[in-house]
Amino acid sequence: MRALQIVSAGVLEVRDVPVPEIGPDEVLVKVAGAGLCHSDVHVLHSPEWPLPNMTLGHETAGHVAKLGNDVTGLAEGEAVLVYLVWACGVCRPCIEGRDNVCINAGGRDAMPPCPGLGPDGGMAEYIKVKARYLEPLGDLDPVTAGPLADAGLTPMHAINGARHRLTPGSTVAVIGVGGLGHMGLQILKATTGARIIAIDSSEQKLEIAREHGADETFLSDSDTAAKVLALTDGYGADAVFDFVGVQPTVDLATKIIAPDGALRFVGLGGGSFTYAADSLTSTIPWGVDVRRSYGGTRSDQRQVIELAKLGKISVETKQYSLEDGIQAFADLEAGIVPGRAILVP
Ligand SMILES: [Zn+2]
Ligand SMILES: [Zn+2]
Repeated sequence: MRALQIVSAGVLEVRDVPVPEIGPDEVLVKVAGAGLCHSDVHVLHSPEWPLPNMTLGHETAGHVAKLGNDVTGLAEGEAVLVYLVWACGVCRPCIEGRDNVCINAGGRDAMPPCPGLGPDGGMAEYIKVKARYLEPLGDLDPVTAGPLADAGLTPMHAINGARHRLTPGSTVAVIGVGGLGHMGLQILKATTGARIIAIDSSEQKLEIAREHGADETFLSDSDTAAKVLALTDGYGADAVFDFVGVQPTVDLATKIIAPDGALRFVGLGGGSFTYAADSLTSTIPWGVDVRRSYGGTRSDQRQVIELAKLGKISVETKQYSLEDGIQAFADLEAGIVPGRAILVP
């Protein structure tokens, strides 16, 4: 079969590899679509990426092609989504429903294995997955559903952890209306009564934000923080989701968060800020709680799928053939993909 692999740091190739053999508890999925994420670009350029010849792709949906001997509850031909977090399912956080911080499969500093960032992922004709990491998609189209596994899941998790601030009358800022941001915005619109401000450096992406229900949109420039503060009588946004995480967006996020606000860093852009325990020199107002967000729980994933089935959220996609995967990466890096790029084998 054909697969898009990292050959070595910085080098991608679409090449022939064997179709995976499945074990008794595994399922062979014929991939219908696999989304491209900035994390893929990040690992591609990691100077010491430790896993050469790995198939990328952690946003995968497709049809069940073959069932392992012990697998029940799934049928050949059924449309499925590959859940991102391959946790143990039995440790204390897992049984508490916090499988994205699994003890056994992740631990304090690592994260549980994720297909396409460790085990082979979905940018291929087939992927093998343990049956318990598959979510039935029902009538959703698996060609475009793959991004629900990350671009949908990750914002849902971040938003679910900030619901105490997303009350009617509150204001929320979404920084970055790319793959994750445009889904986060729709989830906020569908599940909260907050006023939504979308901020991006691209007018095209702000247009997408308006289509998906942003109440206010700002092109990011040196006045953005002042504009957000002006909209909120100088108080700031009750919740801020930074879906980019580069230094300018982190700076903006800390300047516009309100007292007692929920400050959430979701994008892995490498930005940082200084947190001073000494309140007199703090860069953020009183009471702000800051959270880095990784992936999401199985429950978050179900909620995303249900919202998609109801038509309340949808993935804006640009489709490429698997053979054009290297071009898709170039377009993503150039920032010219609206919504999510999807590879279709
Ligand atoms: Zn991702
Ligand atoms: Zn666990």
